[in-house]
Amino acid sequence: MSRLLLMIPGPVEVDEDVLAALGQPPLGHTSLAFIELFGDCLNALRDVFRAPDGQPIVVAGSGTLAMELAVANVIEPGDRAVVVDTGYFSHRMADVLARHGASVHVVPAAAGECPSLDAVASALQAGAKALAVTHVDTSTGVLAPVAELAALARRRGALTIVDGVCALGGEEFEMAQWDVDLCLTASQKALAVPPGLALVMARPRALQAFRARERPVASYYCDWTLWLPILRAYQERRPSYFATPATNLIVALSESVRQMLKEGMPARWARHRRLGAAMRAAMQALGLRPVPRRPELAADTLTTAYYPDGLDDKLVGGVGQHGVAIAGGLHPDIKGRYFRVGHMGITGDVEIRQTVAAIEAALKDAGYLIETGLGVAAAQAAYNQNQAG
Ligand code: PMP
Repeated sequence: MSRLLLMIPGPVEVDEDVLAALGQPPLGHTSLAFIELFGDCLNALRDVFRAPDGQPIVVAGSGTLAMELAVANVIEPGDRAVVVDTGYFSHRMADVLARHGASVHVVPAAAGECPSLDAVASALQAGAKALAVTHVDTSTGVLAPVAELAALARRRGALTIVDGVCALGGEEFEMAQWDVDLCLTASQKALAVPPGLALVMARPRALQAFRARERPVASYYCDWTLWLPILRAYQERRPSYFATPATNLIVALSESVRQMLKEGMPARWARHRRLGAAMRAAMQALGLRPVPRRPELAADTLTTAYYPDGLDDKLVGGVGQHGVAIAGGLHPDIKGRYFRVGHMGITGDVEIRQTVAAIEAALKDAGYLIETGLGVAAAQAAYNQNQAG
């Protein structure tokens, strides 16, 4: 099987030590070895989320389950929730909120945009239980100003729920300092672990909202009433059971978290800034227009750009012919007109150059580029410049 370099926005490439950890014989979920490892991992996750007062929740499932694991426990039927629309995954968040009975107010924005702070502030004026923000919307590559949005929510007494699936571990995120109440993510993106784990960090106000519920949580598997005693038991190194944890994935997560904290979160964010700058510089050199409509909206974990006129998702297959997997578009309004490149987790400048070279080669094959090499050179120059700065 010929395997392509995985530069889609998740799953992503995984370090060999993380893969080796995943491939070890399973540990029993009540074994001393696993209790110790999971307990340490839960504590370490607080440093990754930058939430010393947070309660980590890790269960088997994908990012969508993580969304539900956050929403189902703090939202009750009739609660008003405001959603900052930055694309496909904000729409999904609106659906999850509505499924749990919220009356949802979406603050709209065109594809590639983020609603203004004023628009969000006025949506919050009528009162809201929660403000939901997608940190990086994977469909558009738009980065939302989470710190500013969380401050607006705080002023109005609303909880801030951040979907960090395409951001956490890559984009700067100070959960406690920014006073975000709930953040959710999944293992297969900037945490650099294979797919299969849903993660939530709940800070005190979110836990308080959960405890103050009038009705039971509608989802059995997502109910924190059942999970919190289990997670606390692991944190206190006691055996416990509610639903079997994905022990191999947790061993892999624990290795990746160890690597992340060894690199240091600020250094990791800085590396992602360099990756983002490099990929954006390459796109610009190739004359490909970014989907984010303003430079400050461009994420560092993935890059999205429109195809040249006349080209479409065929380019994705063409890039694959040159050894690199990238993704087509996802936002319904512009689908088929743009592509997405993920660069998160353990990605470095070598993978960026390989990806840009494959994009250049595919553009040339399709008759859209005469001279190759300009994109790669621009990427390298931007990477080096950002490293120096
Ligand atoms: N939110 C965001 C921002 C995402 O990028 C994704 C996955 N691409 C999800 C939620 C849903 O995650 P999953 O596909 O793992 O269910």
